[in-house]
Amino acid sequence: MIPVVALVGRPNVGKSTLFNRLTRTRDALVADYPGLTRDRKYGRAHLSGYEFIVVDTGGIDGTEEGIETKMAEQSLAAIEEADVVLFMTDARAGLTAADLAIAQHLRSRDKVTFVVANKVDGIDGDSACAEFWQLGLGEVYQMAASQGRGVTSLVEYALAPFAEAMGITPGEEGEEETHEREYTEEEAEAEQARLAALPIKLAIIGKPNVGKSTLTNRILGEERVVVYDQPGTTRDSVYIPMERDGRSYVLIDTAGVRRRARVHEVIEKFSVIKTLKAVEDANVVLLVVDAHEGIAEQDLGLLGFVLNSGRALVIAVNKWDGLDQDVKDRVKTELDRRLGFIDFARIHFISALHGTGVGHLFESVEEAYDSATRRVSTSLLTRIMQMAQDDHQPPMVNGRRVKLKYAHVGGYNPPIVVVHGNQVSRLPDSYKRYMMNYYRRSLKVVGTPIQLRFHEGA
Ligand code: GDP
Ligand code: GDP
Repeated sequence: MIPVVALVGRPNVGKSTLFNRLTRTRDALVADYPGLTRDRKYGRAHLSGYEFIVVDTGGIDGTEEGIETKMAEQSLAAIEEADVVLFMTDARAGLTAADLAIAQHLRSRDKVTFVVANKVDGIDGDSACAEFWQLGLGEVYQMAASQGRGVTSLVEYALAPFAEAMGITPGEEGEEETHEREYTEEEAEAEQARLAALPIKLAIIGKPNVGKSTLTNRILGEERVVVYDQPGTTRDSVYIPMERDGRSYVLIDTAGVRRRARVHEVIEKFSVIKTLKAVEDANVVLLVVDAHEGIAEQDLGLLGFVLNSGRALVIAVNKWDGLDQDVKDRVKTELDRRLGFIDFARIHFISALHGTGVGHLFESVEEAYDSATRRVSTSLLTRIMQMAQDDHQPPMVNGRRVKLKYAHVGGYNPPIVVVHGNQVSRLPDSYKRYMMNYYRRSLKVVGTPIQLRFHEGA
């Protein structure tokens, strides 16, 4: 399971500066989709081989009133869900009453906490940090987030307990994913057969009230919904194994079908962090949106995260029942306008309440999974690359033509194609996009993004 790191501290200590630094490279993908802005609160980070979710909890200073109290509640909830807390303070401003109040809260929660004294650039860090020992949370880590100083070493230290589970050897230079493989036709087929027997992990996500529970119940069949209360269900998704049309699935239920057990009880059933973890753990994400409400900022926020994770995606527009034709037309136009930039995902119009269209969802889920995990031989990938190059030559760079030589698999879910050649670092984005679309069409890839990587030389 991917770890969650929460950035906590009073306003102005440098949380968003650190957040941006940690998430910027990962969000590069979102930058490729002009319809999406990045979430300023939840991000995905990749540093020294560690992948983790970062949450900027916003400022809390212990004196909140009104709307601020509400925000503070969210921050406190994020702390509860985090695996690691980076408690940020301002080394220049020195220790404040608000820092002490936050520290007291963190101590009472017994959270794995690292005290960060930020903004040590240009000052004597050691003497500025001495007083932060009074927070009673142990060692004080010096950082200059805006300069990137102390960031990597702290992350490596704080996440070391997760290293083994993530297959990282601490101290070694973090490498990009190493699924790079050369497949012969036979190996690709054998691997394909093995995969077909594995369950598809399908996460059903969406903002509150779009109909996730109704859909989950519909999929499982009412009679199979076991009514029981499981501790920790507000924090964690429930994993439900199921079969459908001869294929095994594990449904990752972020809504909690059991909440019907005690309808009168107010259960905080929606949690962004829980949703993001489910996305990370899934093969395919089913994003549910509400036809009555159209596309909201929160939908786009979740979508951005799904795109960055590289997971396969199917979109369900729910509550399609009882709508007048002109409303339906309007919704479709809006979807085109706001989601048109995701050209790879299938969109279904369904009614979870009546069951309309639910069966067809699974056809697209299966198609997306198969596209995302399909093993392709080196020879086929190279052949497609060659055809693309023959149809449309790469441009000249410094009087020499960029030459593509061969291609092989670099990973799957999302599928990654590694292309080797000369001067490939000079390829313009437009050509890379052309190649990507060429692969998409040739391999009939639907429901998943494709990533291309370029390596210099043979
Ligand atoms: P937040 O309110 O905790 O999210 O704080 P911000 O990230 O917005 O930072 C508040 C201010 O501190 C901004 O003007 C930043 O440029 C500045 N800042 C953040 N990190 C550093 C740092 O390491 N050194 C210095 N000198 N300033 C920093
Ligand atoms: P969740 O918060 O995403 O799990 O949403 P719920 O499944 O609890 O549904 C929220 C509300 O929308 C409930 O009142 C449902 O009865 C209603 N709802 C769910 N699916 C549909 C649908 O397909 N059509 C209509 N008209 N209402 C629906």
